[in-house]
Amino acid sequence: MARRLTGFTPSGDLHLGNHLGAIAPIVAGQATTDTVIFISDLHALTLEHDPAEVRRRTLEFATLLLAAGADPDRCLFLVQSHVPGHTELHYLLECVTGYGEARRMIQFKEKSGRQERVRMSLLTYPILMAADILLYDTDEVPVGEDQGQHVELARDIAQRFNTRYGPTFTVPRAVTPPVAARIMDLTSPGDKMSKSAPSAAGTLRLLDEPDVLRRKVMRAVTDTEGVVGYDPARRPGVSNLLAVLAACTGGEPERLAGEFGRYGELKEAVADAVVATLTPVRERYLRLAADPRHVQEALRAGAERARDLAGTKVRRAKAAIGLLPG
Ligand code: ATP
Ligand code: MG
Repeated sequence: MARRLTGFTPSGDLHLGNHLGAIAPIVAGQATTDTVIFISDLHALTLEHDPAEVRRRTLEFATLLLAAGADPDRCLFLVQSHVPGHTELHYLLECVTGYGEARRMIQFKEKSGRQERVRMSLLTYPILMAADILLYDTDEVPVGEDQGQHVELARDIAQRFNTRYGPTFTVPRAVTPPVAARIMDLTSPGDKMSKSAPSAAGTLRLLDEPDVLRRKVMRAVTDTEGVVGYDPARRPGVSNLLAVLAACTGGEPERLAGEFGRYGELKEAVADAVVATLTPVRERYLRLAADPRHVQEALRAGAERARDLAGTKVRRAKAAIGLLPG
């Protein structure tokens, strides 16, 4: 069975884009795919961070993932920092990665360009991401376009390590999630809905209350044509609303466009669909969060299983690279 891995970095609030583009497909795939779901708390330290927020969000993300249907009996469910193999392998992989390769990463260029003080970890986190992937012999990494280059780097690193030091790692590949690859921000539909958006007005957060979700949808930016139509390039706002409706109800945006006349009607339907999609997740979240012991126990058990797997892989890599008897 192919193994598929996805990580969620506990910075910012999880939103509908994360849910439709990542969480729902992973949850649906658990039955047929060997799934690894982890909270990438180490990656949250690459930018200015508040320790208390990282701690709080790590538990919040884990609880939300369980609420959305992640099943620790069917997948490997863990927090990255609970498994020392991630950082151990990171260092070994740094030794087969060029400085130039890391510096070329577009995400690094973009994120470092916006700051005065750049953490070293911002440069090296794609190598940690390669370690996350290679540690578990991952075959498939579902990613949006922005992370494609990092999966490519993980492939290069795996191939290089295997060639130089002997077969050690499965070479992973990026896969694109089938629907809703890119939900856009409701107030600036030229930008992706994002955890790190400067304002939450256009972000439908998984934990927003139903009336907040409704209000955000009703205030979504459209255009001046006045009639519903699907044309993402020319009419990003209305097209995004149709894409959200399609992803929440399992329809096709082009076909749905014909069912609505004015924007108000479409927005009402989108608001209903979003509330219907997110309310069960939020309600399960609130039940689970009332007693965090269940979530903590799932994470403890997940880390224990992961440490076994990861430990074996790290020992193999250490032997190959010359740190243990070969
Ligand atoms: P950040 O702004 O911190 O990068 P993000 O919202 O892009 O946050 P990530 O942690 O980078 O979230 O991504 C988590 C998962 O959610 C990834 O699989 C990513 O492809 C998916 N994802 C993120 N944003 C969207 C979106 N707007 N539409 C669909 N999928 C998304
Ligand atoms: Mg992102």
